[in-house]
Amino acid sequence: MSLCINPNCPHPQNPNNMLFCQACGSELLLAGRYRVNRLLSGKGGFGRTYEVNQGNTTLV
Ligand SMILES: [Zn+2]
Repeated sequence: MSLCINPNCPHPQNPNNMLFCQACGSELLLAGRYRVNRLLSGKGGFGRTYEVNQGNTTLV
């Protein structure tokens, strides 16, 4: 699962093999290398925190 990072995306969940969001066209790879697995923080507050992975390494 790859999550779109567009906060206004109507359908942020995309298959892992996608490079661009199917709903809004936003790039799914952060900085061209990090794929967002899930959103760690809720909406609002101090912004968003994402769990991403780079190859086999999971970064939080
Ligand atoms: Zn999107």
